[in-house]
Amino acid sequence: MKNKFDYFMPVHVCFEADASKRIGRFITGKNVLIISDPFLYQNGTAERIGQSLKEQDVRYFYHIEPNPSCESVDAAAKEARLIKADCIIGLGGGSALDVAKITACLTTNEGSIYDYYAGGERTLKSRETMLICVPTTAGTGSEVTNVAVFTNQKAGVKMPMVSRSFWADVAIVDYKLTFTLPPAVTASTGMDAFCHAIEAYWNRESVDICDMPAMDAMKLIKENIELAYKEPENETARVNIMKASLFAGIAFSQTRTTGIHAISFPLTSEFHASHGAACAVTLPAFIKKSKEEAEEKMQILADYLGCESVDDLSETIEKLMTAINLPTRLHQLGVKASDLEHITEVGLNAAIIRLTPATMNKDTVCELLESIL
Ligand code: NAD
Repeated sequence: MKNKFDYFMPVHVCFEADASKRIGRFITGKNVLIISDPFLYQNGTAERIGQSLKEQDVRYFYHIEPNPSCESVDAAAKEARLIKADCIIGLGGGSALDVAKITACLTTNEGSIYDYYAGGERTLKSRETMLICVPTTAGTGSEVTNVAVFTNQKAGVKMPMVSRSFWADVAIVDYKLTFTLPPAVTASTGMDAFCHAIEAYWNRESVDICDMPAMDAMKLIKENIELAYKEPENETARVNIMKASLFAGIAFSQTRTTGIHAISFPLTSEFHASHGAACAVTLPAFIKKSKEEAEEKMQILADYLGCESVDDLSETIEKLMTAINLPTRLHQLGVKASDLEHITEVGLNAAIIRLTPATMNKDTVCELLESIL
């Protein structure tokens, strides 16, 4: 336990079934832009929310792809400026929410995201446009973080941006929106949330106040993910996975993530794995590796999750991943032995890798990746 920590999480969280039908009570301005993705527009979810806003003029932007590009951000910002948006509602998984975060900033900041990306975040003027995040996947926790992740397609690089302006004003967490998630997305996003929780927990900059929500998140996912995967409309499973994603988001919003996410960046941008699958594939190996510097704390977690040892926890999680059809070996994502050195180099370039509770260098990371090829 540490005797000193900081905690800052300024988002008003409203967790309630059907809360997405009552967003109007939070909105103060007139012009609203709902940013979603093609699925959520075409299945009517975005319009249902828009039609519930009786006092506002509502427009829609839904040209958002998974692992969103900087070009999609600039297109969304153009629309927001055109309608002089007072409020941006992000509706979707992490991809739509992240685009909503930066769009709310760009509404009153000139130029392109490229002017603020890759270290330029500090030049963003404070956000003036209201930002409401409504997650429809239970995974990223983006609704309660100050992070947004974008892909620079020209350079083929996926990178996170961090800004105080990315904290939403309100997070509307309505688990009923996740009933339509296909099993594969339930699996990958749910294990993304597990990774957030464990990376907050074992983080070299872990925050005591976040350990309990992180542990709870992992327990809820371990006990409910298979059920949510097999029965998409099982209310208990959906509530619990949504809570887990929220708790994990709150936890890692304070600590950032570690090696798992660092290695996931090349796996998504170059091997086109989904974000959750790219994270989860290295999870069991990183659990074993965490014993190097965090064995005592990890044993407490293993006990809490009903496992005998840290190695047992690693094996239990791997079995769980197999049960929900997630890849557990890198070759399942198309990775070859000759790719490992490059993946290691890209992973080591992400500053968060140094928050892993183990020595992370070319040899140790390559060895870890070889063990799961
Ligand atoms: P996503 O937003 O890319 O969505 C994945 C797919 O699921 C899309 O095809 C989408 O249409 C579909 N989908 C979403 N909600 C649905 C629903 N209710 N029913 C049916 N289909 C639905 O996936 P994601 O995993 O939520 O987000 C991944 C992105 O978030 C990545 O870019 C990742 O880097 C980023 N991320 C951000 C943070 C953060 O703190 N900002 C944290 C983790 C990850």
